[in-house]
Amino acid sequence: MELVINGLSKTYGNGVKALDNVSLTIPTGMFGLLGPNGAGKSTLMRILATLQEADAGTAKLGDLDVLNEKDAVRRVLGYLPQEFGVYPRVSAYEMLDHIALLKGVTNKGERKTLVEALLHRVNLWEQRKRRLSGFSGGMKQRFGIAQSLIGEPKLIIVDEPTAGLDPGERNRFYNLLTEIGENVVVILSTHIVQDVQELCGNMAIINKGKLLYAGPPDAALREMRGKVWEKSIAKSELEGYATSGKLISNKLVAGKPIIHVMGDNAPGEGFVPTEPSLEDVFFGYIHSSNQPQAHV
Ligand code: ADP
Repeated sequence: MELVINGLSKTYGNGVKALDNVSLTIPTGMFGLLGPNGAGKSTLMRILATLQEADAGTAKLGDLDVLNEKDAVRRVLGYLPQEFGVYPRVSAYEMLDHIALLKGVTNKGERKTLVEALLHRVNLWEQRKRRLSGFSGGMKQRFGIAQSLIGEPKLIIVDEPTAGLDPGERNRFYNLLTEIGENVVVILSTHIVQDVQELCGNMAIINKGKLLYAGPPDAALREMRGKVWEKSIAKSELEGYATSGKLISNKLVAGKPIIHVMGDNAPGEGFVPTEPSLEDVFFGYIHSSNQPQAHV
């Protein structure tokens, strides 16, 4: 099964064009939707999760018309939003039980088996009686995964899941995500390149509502090979490079800036070619799309 998105557009009442004619085919497996804050990721996720209307375009999950057959979509959808609203006085067990009931698991015995299995699966069994309000960020995210898995979903949407998690929690969350079946479409929306690098066989990059790249991360890296140049510079030089419009990234190594610049040829004295990283790919695309249109 594939999710095929065609010509999707959304402009908010304030005139912000959050999605601009996005067409994208998402196969089964883990798919990374990468974009900076404000790129339009949440808007796309909410539309696919039937929580928001698009202005134009179509989205089909197999034979299902995602934008119009909302009830049918909800039956096969697992959604983990950016902010998972929690009920302070409710335990993890009670909450999962309640959501399972809402999702149509009406048989009590069946629900008990399901809820217990899910709590074990996301490693929250020990904490099942604790109130959700006292959960850490990582525990909340694992709880979010548990609730999104109720009903054996065909489409799982995870919006900015690792923002705010510490490295240990992030790892546990990654491991959990990779256990989700290969036959499910899982869309992971994130601005964190490492999430996509570690988890996703396919990805898309969006910025300002526009699709900039779609395909495997490997192919994007290959395309960029030979075009990324590195130089270690003095701190005082950084501003000059930053305003030159060519810089795609800079980081400090032992207190000294190392910059990456994109170009078909060496951009100047002291630059050496370097193997592109997925961060270079990401910042390279975002950088190019932020440049003013060239006048011909
Ligand atoms: P992302 O998830 O990539 O950060 P969003 O989809 O949240 O991006 O936002 C895309 C753009 O749409 C941003 O410029 C944001 O400010 C704007 N936006 C999002 N939601 C609304 C809304 N309800 N009303 C008006 N503008 C919005």
